[in-house]
Amino acid sequence: MAKDPVTPLSAGPRRCPICGKPTPPRHQPFCSTRCADIDLGRWLKGNYRVETEEPADDPSDETERQPD
Ligand SMILES: [Zn+2]
Repeated sequence: MAKDPVTPLSAGPRRCPICGKPTPPRHQPFCSTRCADIDLGRWLKGNYRVETEEPADDPSDETERQPD
């Protein structure tokens, strides 16, 4: 079977989505744990961004509280 450049995923090793380097089986889908941490950090940032969209407590409500 000849290698098909159109389908690199099945014809050869996968490439790191962070830096584009070939990924060894131990660290797939990334080339290293460092790139895995980078991807994880991006994912967490996106997750936190969704949480911030939730309506937070109104800070003006604290002024209405009376120490009774
Ligand atoms: Zn990488």
